[in-house]
Amino acid sequence: MKIAVVGTGYVGLVTGTCFAETGNQVTCVDIDANKVARLQNGEIPIYEPGLDVLFDRNIAEDRLKFTTNLAEGIKDAEVIFLALPTPPGEDGSADLKYILGVANDLGPILENYAVIIDKSTVPVGTAEKVRQAVAQHAKVDFDVVSNPEFLREGVAVDDFMKPDRVVVGTTSDKAKKVMEKLYAPLVRQGNPVIFMDERSAEMTKYAANSFLALKITFMNEIANLCERVGANVDDIRRGIGTDSRIGKRFLFAGIGYGGSCFPKDVQALAKTSSDYGYDFRTLRSVMAVNEDQKKKLLPIVMEYFGGNLKGKTIAVWGLAFKPYTDDIREAPALENIKALLEAGASITVYDPEAMDNVKKLIPNITYCHTAYAALDDADALMIFTEWPQFRTPDFVKMSKLLKEKVVFDGRNLYELETMKEQGFTYYSIGRETVQ
Ligand code: NAD
Repeated sequence: MKIAVVGTGYVGLVTGTCFAETGNQVTCVDIDANKVARLQNGEIPIYEPGLDVLFDRNIAEDRLKFTTNLAEGIKDAEVIFLALPTPPGEDGSADLKYILGVANDLGPILENYAVIIDKSTVPVGTAEKVRQAVAQHAKVDFDVVSNPEFLREGVAVDDFMKPDRVVVGTTSDKAKKVMEKLYAPLVRQGNPVIFMDERSAEMTKYAANSFLALKITFMNEIANLCERVGANVDDIRRGIGTDSRIGKRFLFAGIGYGGSCFPKDVQALAKTSSDYGYDFRTLRSVMAVNEDQKKKLLPIVMEYFGGNLKGKTIAVWGLAFKPYTDDIREAPALENIKALLEAGASITVYDPEAMDNVKKLIPNITYCHTAYAALDDADALMIFTEWPQFRTPDFVKMSKLLKEKVVFDGRNLYELETMKEQGFTYYSIGRETVQ
C-alpha cells in the first residue's frame, strides 16, 4: 500500500516506520523543516529504543521517505494518517487546529479515493469535523476513520508491531476492508482489530488513558494514607496486584503521572463531559490529586532543611516523565526543579536521555555527565524518574559524594532495609521514613 503520515513526531514516526517495515511505501510529512532535514539525513530526532534498526532498514530499502510538502506526501496514497498534536486549549479541551488545518488543506489536493485516519487522540465528534473540512473542497470520494493509538513511549515499536488490540471506528465497508488489510500483518497472533463507530473509537482512547490515570492516582492516595496509618504501599501493591481482577500493572505509587498524554487526555475528557452536561466527578478528583502528588516531596525537603533552601544544592536524578524516553512534557521533575530554584536552591541534574530537551527550558541548572557527578557536593538527592541505572547504585560512592546522606525518592527505587543498612535518611512514597 502507499501510505502518507502527516505529523512525524513520536506517534507519526513510529507509525510510518512500522508500516514501512510491513512492506508498505510510506511518506512522512511534517511542517518542521529542520526535523524533516534531519530525518532525510538518516537521523532520528527522538529517543525511542529499537526504532533505529527499522528506520535504517526501511530507508535503505527505499520504503520510507520524508517531506515538508503535503501534496507530494499524499500523492497516490490509499491511506493518510493524521498523527498531529492535540494539545490542551485554554479551557482544557483538545485543540483541533492542527488536525482541522491539515483537513482543510487535504480537500483540494486529494486526487484519488483515500482513507483519512485520525491517529491523534481527538474528542468525540472529530471524525465528523474532519470529514466536513475535507469535503468542503474535495473532488474525489474519501472516508474518515478513527484509529486511536495506544503505543507507549519507550516501548513504542513493540507496542505498534504487536498491539494488544487495534481499535477502528468506521461505518464504511470500503474503509473497513482497507483497515483490515493494513493491520493484518500486525495481528497475526490473533489479537483483535475491534471495529466500532467513529464516536465510540474516539471515546475508547480517552477512556483507556483516563482509567490508567485513575488507577495510578488511586494507588497514590492509598500511599498517602499508608504514610499516615503506618502501612507499606509496596506490600499493598503486591497484595492486591495478584488479584486477577485488579492486575499487577499501573499500581506503583509515586510522585504523580505526567507525559504528553495522561494529563491532557484526562483534562480533555473532563471538558467533553462538562460540554455534554455531565459532571465526571472521578476525573475531577484524579486531576486534583495528581496536581498535589507532583508537589508532595517539596514540603518534606523544605522541612528537612529547616524551612530554608538558600545555599543548598539539590541533586536530581531523572527528568523524563518516565524511563526509556527523552519526553519531558508535563514531567513532574520540571515543576519540582522550578519550585526548588524559586526557594533559593541550586540544582545539579542527570538524566540519560532528557537533558538536551530540558536545557532549552531551564538553562540555569548544572547538567552532569553521570549520575554520580550530579551528587558531588550536593546536600541531598531527589529522584523523579525510575531509570533502571538508578536502581542499584553504589551506595558507598553516593555517601562519599553527598554532603548529607539524604534521599527524597519519588519513585520508591530502594528497599527500606537497604537504606537503613547504608545509613541513609530516606523519604519515599507510601512507606515509612528511614532515618
Ligand atoms: P508530537 O508533538 O511528537 O508530533 C506531532 C508532529 O506534528 C510534530 O513533529 C509537528 O511538527 C507536526 N505538525 C504540526 N503541525 C503540522 C502540520 N500542519 N503538518 C504536518 N506536520 C505538522 O506529538 P505525538 O506525541 O506524536 O502525538 C501526536 C498525537 O498522538 C496526539 O494527539 C497524542 O495525544 C497522540 N498520542 C500520543 C502518544 C505518545 O505516547 N506520544 C500515544 C498515543 C497517542
